[in-house]
Amino acid sequence: MLERDERIRIMATASETCAVLPSADLQWLLDALSAKGYRVVGPIVREGSVVWETISSVSELPIGWRDQQEPGRYRLEQTGSQEIFGVVHGPQSLKPFIFAPREPLFQIKRSKDGFTTSPTLPQSEKVAVIGARACDLAGLVIQDRIFLNDTYRDPYYATRRDGLFVVAVNCTRSLQTCFCASMETGPRAKRGFDLALTEVDDRLLVEAGSEAGRDLLSNLSLSTGSEQLSAEAVTRIDACAGGQVRRLDHSRLPQALYDAHEHPRWDEVAGRCLACTNCTMVCPTCFCHTVEETLDLSRQQTAHARLWDSCFAQEHGYIHGKNIRPTIKDRYRMWLTHKLASWIDQFGTSGCVGCGRCITWCPVGIDLTEELPALLTPGTQPSITSQQLEGT
Ligand code: SF4
Ligand code: SF4
Repeated sequence: MLERDERIRIMATASETCAVLPSADLQWLLDALSAKGYRVVGPIVREGSVVWETISSVSELPIGWRDQQEPGRYRLEQTGSQEIFGVVHGPQSLKPFIFAPREPLFQIKRSKDGFTTSPTLPQSEKVAVIGARACDLAGLVIQDRIFLNDTYRDPYYATRRDGLFVVAVNCTRSLQTCFCASMETGPRAKRGFDLALTEVDDRLLVEAGSEAGRDLLSNLSLSTGSEQLSAEAVTRIDACAGGQVRRLDHSRLPQALYDAHEHPRWDEVAGRCLACTNCTMVCPTCFCHTVEETLDLSRQQTAHARLWDSCFAQEHGYIHGKNIRPTIKDRYRMWLTHKLASWIDQFGTSGCVGCGRCITWCPVGIDLTEELPALLTPGTQPSITSQQLEGT
């Protein structure tokens, strides 16, 4: 449920600065972004899920579609309605736009007296993403903390981030897998957006969250939102939060999870985990990566690139002749303990924003909102361990 102050803020914001865009005129927004030089990206239906693609027309958006998500299950269904943002999210968050899955870092060329290196920064590009959710924005804030606001500022991430314009959509329906309300990251977009939309029947309530957003909004010359419309938006967001069936109680973290280091549940979950890496690929906050050196055929130059990697990959734990996480149990424990406990010590926040993607896209439906309570409950030794299963 939205806190009282939050409700007042939304309604005050709505009556003072929010504008109303008829859903039928959403194309104005796309055209205004294009006119400002942005490549516009939005959710489209492809091969049974929703992915980000460059779009030029509102008709490409998943109008009338809704997603159903459960542990290990994702389905789209066409409702026949004119709802534009009925699909909550697909497997991708905002992560690929700023932390590229494959990022060329630099080239090394042989020269007469040794070698020269030249960085290969990405070309700066203005990209406007339409349809990001509150959990995606919370993930973006965390990635910013890691790549921009820590000891080192990552120039590759910074170049992509500088050109990003985010049009968020406040959620008015929750999935079975969502638990952003308990993580206090959603379902309303709080920060990190340029514009935020709330779909109320055939109208979109538009709120600016940055100077760039305010500038764009002023160009659209829209009418101001009424109190009645903003109240309806609040009611729907509130109902969305109240309808979430999953929650994650993080009140005893991080210490309780550190204390569970030898809990038998780690063996049990490791017996189900396939170490497929899906959960880390879809997670908006995971940032594990590896580097790759590609030598050209003339052996005169190499390209050095950064690639997404996962702490579930066996090779990722290989350091100086030894694998420090040889079993799946080691890797699942590492992932969950970092995500929910040591991340707090490291970055001052949870590494989980409650998007639920790791639950949906896990092929065996492992659900961290079930695993955490089990791990925090005194347990007994399971009858079969993951090591025994791996040995069969
Ligand atoms: S751990 Fe799972 S629910 Fe949490 S942010 Fe990552 S993908 Fe989303
Ligand atoms: S928890 Fe699920 S998604 Fe993650 S590595 Fe294990 S099987 Fe794959």
